[in-house]
Amino acid sequence: MTDSDSDEGGSVNTMGGSAAGEAARRRTFAVISHPDAGKSTLTEALALHAHAITEAGAVHGKSGRRGVASDWMEMEKARGISVTSAVLQFAHRGHVLNLLDTPGHADFSEDTYRVLAAVDCAVMLIDAAKGLEEQTRKLFDVCRHRGVPVITFVNKWDRPGREALELLDEIEREFRLRPTPLTWPVGAPGYMHGLIDVREPGQMLRYTRTPGGSHEAVEELVPAERAALEEGADWEQATEELQLLRADGAGFDRASFLAGTSTPVFFGAAISNIGVRLLLDAVVDLAPAPGPRELEGGGSRPVDAPFSGLVFKVQANMDPSHRDRIAFLRVCSGVFERGATVTRAASGKPFATKYAHSVFGQDRSMVDTAYPGDVVGLVNAAALRVGDTLYAGPPALFPAMPTFAPEHFAVVRPVDIGRSKQFRRGIAQLDEEGVVQVLVSDVRGDQAPVLAAVGPMQFDVVSARMAGEFSAPVRLEMLPYHLARATDAAGAADLNGSRLVEGEALTRVRDKAVLALFPDRWQANSFGRAFPGARLDPLLAAH
Ligand code: GDP
Repeated sequence: MTDSDSDEGGSVNTMGGSAAGEAARRRTFAVISHPDAGKSTLTEALALHAHAITEAGAVHGKSGRRGVASDWMEMEKARGISVTSAVLQFAHRGHVLNLLDTPGHADFSEDTYRVLAAVDCAVMLIDAAKGLEEQTRKLFDVCRHRGVPVITFVNKWDRPGREALELLDEIEREFRLRPTPLTWPVGAPGYMHGLIDVREPGQMLRYTRTPGGSHEAVEELVPAERAALEEGADWEQATEELQLLRADGAGFDRASFLAGTSTPVFFGAAISNIGVRLLLDAVVDLAPAPGPRELEGGGSRPVDAPFSGLVFKVQANMDPSHRDRIAFLRVCSGVFERGATVTRAASGKPFATKYAHSVFGQDRSMVDTAYPGDVVGLVNAAALRVGDTLYAGPPALFPAMPTFAPEHFAVVRPVDIGRSKQFRRGIAQLDEEGVVQVLVSDVRGDQAPVLAAVGPMQFDVVSARMAGEFSAPVRLEMLPYHLARATDAAGAADLNGSRLVEGEALTRVRDKAVLALFPDRWQANSFGRAFPGARLDPLLAAH
């Protein structure tokens, strides 16, 4: 019996606490992974393991497994766009866990990255057979840039896969992140019998899977002597590997974990709930609670200061007859109280929080109070933009949300040239909201701006909103570029004047940065060789 078991099932009373006290028991995190690594399965396993606070959302609709996560995603599919980016909130060992979704798959977009501005920790989920994959890399880059600490979970250990030491090596080599395993598998992937909790090495947690694997594996504590006897060579190998790691200084180190230079590593199989409880415990024990947040221009806002919050995502409804817009706000300090009027830092104007909801999967229910680390959805928040700060009391302004390296580019034109005024207004608005990035070039002119996106779904949002909201339907022509680098006026002149390489330079409208666009990194490299003096800097989360 662990202390996690004893607390499970007890609902958490979140009413009436102080901001600092409530912040201390919150853990706000996201799972970053490549599609198919098992994020939905793990999300569901976590929610089932812990006690979901918003019970109705967790259990309604479906019987059996795959309830929570698939409900969550089906809505996104039905709408054809990543609309929810909801938050699962659950209690574990007297703590409140907020798990923010990072949409993946086809709807990968800037929103996926922006979610990482609202979390204090990330769980990096790796498929044991595949190791580090493309989308994991991109998301990890953003975590590194923002200094978000990362806990690693190696999933699918119930299937044949790669050696544990080899996977650790890959993390260290490719991410320059020192892996510090906190659990270690007994048995190769596909033949796992159990896990050793590195902090309690004198025993093994043995898992016995139930037929079909759809239920939680039975967990049994086996003392070392018996494990040695029963597991033979597998036990021997696991303990030898652990000794090797210990000699290598791979022990958990809190300071470097919080600094984002080491990562505690866990092994398991989300599908059978193997290792999931240990991961959940780690989120509570290791992930940082919400802390003071840096302010633009220096200083920081402590969690017990009056209310402040950051808008990290704005979701516009795609249905033109139903134009509500939800702004997702992470509470950074103080207590959020529905009904209070707060100030929008960008305009200095008051903002009424009358329509605040908690956002749990499909369900929206009114939220009255929220604490640092919590996420609330503000409905009908037409005035709010991604990156906005809201505050009460002494003013606060959080630094602007970074823009991310786009990988998809399309020229946008109005279908009806007579509506070019509406067209320009709409495009400017969508740029300001952060729906897409808008680029222009001297060569193309501002009648034919280029839209730049992290994921192609962002273009669908533009098309739908331009037609529905601004009455200016658009035509998009995809450009053959997939890589952007930052350059300067000289680099732009070289690129635009060059006939040697495929590519062009464009100015990003809002921040006036100049981007050099190439079909791929080979073209970028060949341009770099042809013009060794030209600046070509990678952008955040670029290849
Ligand atoms: P997502 O795309 O990252 O959300 O991945 P899913 O959770 O949908 O999982 C992708 C596939 O991997 C599904 O077929 C899952 O059943 C399977 N899967 C997830 N976790 C495990 C695991 O621990 N072991 C095995 N063998 N399969 C898993």
